[in-house]
Parts: sequence; structure tokens; C-alpha cells
Amino acid sequence: MKDTLNVVLFGAPGSGKGTQSAKLIDKYGLYHISTGEVLRDHIKRGTELGKIADSYISEGQLIPDDLMIKILDDVLEKEAADKKGVVFDGFPRTIPQAEALKELLKKRGTDLHAVIGLEVPEEELMERMLLRGKETGRADDNPETIKNRLKVYHDQTHPLREYYTKEGKYLPINGTGIVDE
Ligand code: AMP
Repeated sequence: MKDTLNVVLFGAPGSGKGTQSAKLIDKYGLYHISTGEVLRDHIKRGTELGKIADSYISEGQLIPDDLMIKILDDVLEKEAADKKGVVFDGFPRTIPQAEALKELLKKRGTDLHAVIGLEVPEEELMERMLLRGKETGRADDNPETIKNRLKVYHDQTHPLREYYTKEGKYLPINGTGIVDE
């Protein structure tokens, strides 16, 4: 993965990471890794990993770090080796995951270049996820699970904003308004 461009799209659930990833991928020819999508695919296929993942996702909790890091390492190995770079969507979500990402990229001769933070007020996050739940039937977009996911975000993921600010990699973006803006 030498000379690749690697970007994390960071933000609360419902902040638009998936939507904006699609735009970056088109524009820069990058490979999209959404850890949520990887897990939902396992659930759909009924794999062992899918069963484990479902028990966490349906509660709005995070998959344990060691398991999640191993999954990401596998995806990088199988899918990203010959790509121009990666947009990470939904990873990292904890400090240990951020440290692991640094190592996973280092061992492939590259680095993380930027963390783009989509910043959206909480009331709007809730509205967007409820709408997405109605439109797509996504199981964890229900009021109870959304509340847990937002709490998990505040407790475990939001500290990464400061972590990456200290590293000089955090770029905040206003995540409200229309998608193209
Ligand atoms: P997402 O599609 O990114 O909103 O992720 C949906 C769910 O998948 C999350 O609420 C978590 O349960 C799980 N998940 C996705 N990415 C991670 C991660 N990096 N670490 C732990 N759990 C994750």
C-alpha cells in the first residue's frame, strides 16, 4: 500500500459517513471500507462472525476491539493491497482501534493522512437515523438502539477527536446542509 492516500471519515452515527464516502471514492478512486457494512454482510450470510456481531449491533454496542481489529486486518489484506488508498468509514471507534490502525498501515508501508470529522447536532442525528430506519429497514435504526449508539459514541468514540487533533490530522467539516455542500 505504499504511496496510497488513506482517510478516515469520522463522525457520530447518522452524521453522513457512508454518504460522503461514496463521493470521495468516486472522485479519488479510493477503496471504501465500512466496518458496519462488513458486519451486516456477515449477519445477512448467517456466518459465525455474523452471529457474534448481531448480538452487539442489536444492542447498539461495539464489537470488541481485538475481534474488530482482526476483521479490519483481513479486509486490508484481501481487498486493499492493490488500491490507490482507503476511505475508512466507521473505523476506528476507540483509542485502541486508532493505535491498531496506525500499526496496520505502518506494516504496509503507509500512513493515515487525514481524519475528516462530520459534525452534526445531536437532534439532527436522531432524525436522520429514524428516517433511514423507515426507508431502509436497518434494524439498529430504532429509537432504543439509537440512544445506546449515541451514548457509546460519546463515551468511546468522541475522544478520538482530541486524539487526532493532537496528531494534527483532524479536519472538522460542518455535516449539516445538503449532501453536495
Ligand atoms: P455503522 O454502520 O458504522 O453505524 O456500524 C453499525 C454497528 O456495527 C455499530 O453500532 C457497531 O455495533 C458495529 N461496528 C461497526 N464498526 C465498528 C467498529 N469499528 N468497532 C466496533 N463495532 C463496530
